[in-house]
Amino acid sequence: MKPSTFVFSAVAVAAFLILPSRFTHADESDKVFLAGASTSNITPPLGDSIVGNWEPIPATNVHDELHARCLVLDNGQDRLAFVICDNVGIPAEVFDAAKEQVLAATGMPASHVLMASTHTHSATSARGSSKTIRTKELNDYQKFVAHRISDGVRRAIANMEPARIGWGRTEEPSEVFNRRWHVNNVALLNNPLGGVDQVRMNPPRGHEALDRPAGPTDPEICFISVQSTDGRPIALLANYSLHYVGGVPNGDISADYFGYFANKIEKKLNASEQTPPFVGILSNGTSGDINNNNYADKNPKKYKSYEKMAEVAEKVASRVAEAHNDLTFHDWVPLAAASTNLPLKVRQPTPEMLEHLKPYMEAKDTKSDGPRKKEQIYAGRIANILESPKQIEVPLQAFRIGDLGISAIPFEAFAEIGLELKDRSPTGETFTIELANGSFGYLPTPYQHRLGGYETWLGTNSVELKASDKIIASLLKLLEQPTTKN
Ligand SMILES: [Zn+2]
Repeated sequence: MKPSTFVFSAVAVAAFLILPSRFTHADESDKVFLAGASTSNITPPLGDSIVGNWEPIPATNVHDELHARCLVLDNGQDRLAFVICDNVGIPAEVFDAAKEQVLAATGMPASHVLMASTHTHSATSARGSSKTIRTKELNDYQKFVAHRISDGVRRAIANMEPARIGWGRTEEPSEVFNRRWHVNNVALLNNPLGGVDQVRMNPPRGHEALDRPAGPTDPEICFISVQSTDGRPIALLANYSLHYVGGVPNGDISADYFGYFANKIEKKLNASEQTPPFVGILSNGTSGDINNNNYADKNPKKYKSYEKMAEVAEKVASRVAEAHNDLTFHDWVPLAAASTNLPLKVRQPTPEMLEHLKPYMEAKDTKSDGPRKKEQIYAGRIANILESPKQIEVPLQAFRIGDLGISAIPFEAFAEIGLELKDRSPTGETFTIELANGSFGYLPTPYQHRLGGYETWLGTNSVELKASDKIIASLLKLLEQPTTKN
């Protein structure tokens, strides 16, 4: 790295972490590229709580199993691991526990292991009680998930074999919609914090008050493919900026379209029934404001349970398989990783918000029959913020694979954030994996904060209004650092 070429903040310098290469020399004989993959089952017991919606409900059935899907790359000088987990949002303390186990068992430092959640809404919770207060003692499911993740990395390492790697991009614009809309009806814009927003999340479908979406979408699908030296597919990791699809019966556990994608790409690459098994992986891009519903459509098609997620996964896997036909594979590529902990202020309620929520905060412990009012939910969330530290540290990470850049953000990041990183990245192709290494809530841009709407409400979002600018600047520095010399 060339620190003289960047301006670091004192804190970023202190936290900036680059581990030396595992081997100090690299002559031609060292240039062996290895890859291995594995799938670790993380399905919870029935009865645990599903938390993808306003109110938690107990899991009563497993439609399809949940997994931590692992990919390890090793070029003889550096080793990188990806672990993508079927969960709505795994907190940093669970990933940190898994990383400690990985370090102890394999020597891989946390900076070189990227762990993320897919954001399926039909998984049980691995969260703690708060986005801003770290849980000290992990519960049974959190411990189980951490252990299954570290086992997955160890098993992927055990499966490593000489391999080659390629990466590519394609697009599927028809399944991504910005879910925040400008609407011409103030009755749709009141918020539970006592204010009036300018935009509405998930507005009524086909409503006459719909004006225009409040932000862009990112239709790009980026992917990494690894295969054995004789051309047998080992794993494919893709990235698409779509929140989730849904359409599951209440109480069902499912990996959503991320699980369907894994199965479909395996079939499309003719990689079924292999030993070790092929591992398909779909990571979430920057999709905090992007979902699968076209709100302008007055007569949307009706789907049976699971039908729509299968349809979306089929399209995404088809685009990837088509682009895969033209992929160039490399026998060896440089690998590098960098990470930092970025301090961010925790947002505080305004006097007006506290005044508006006062009656609900005073009654916050009383159980109500039926669904709670949004004010009751936010009174609880704001009480939680008031008990939080005034500043938190969030983990940021970047990988480089040849001239491909991958950045990792521990929030549900808005599409603009991923697009800006793609535009400004010093690497070639770049994509971002969200909900990576932690789960700290939504991350709107400062502009989207001015528009308001659900994702910006305090308690849904918990960090300072300019957090996304700081995160982008920090990730661009991490992406700058050169890969190990060829
Ligand atoms: Zn969500």
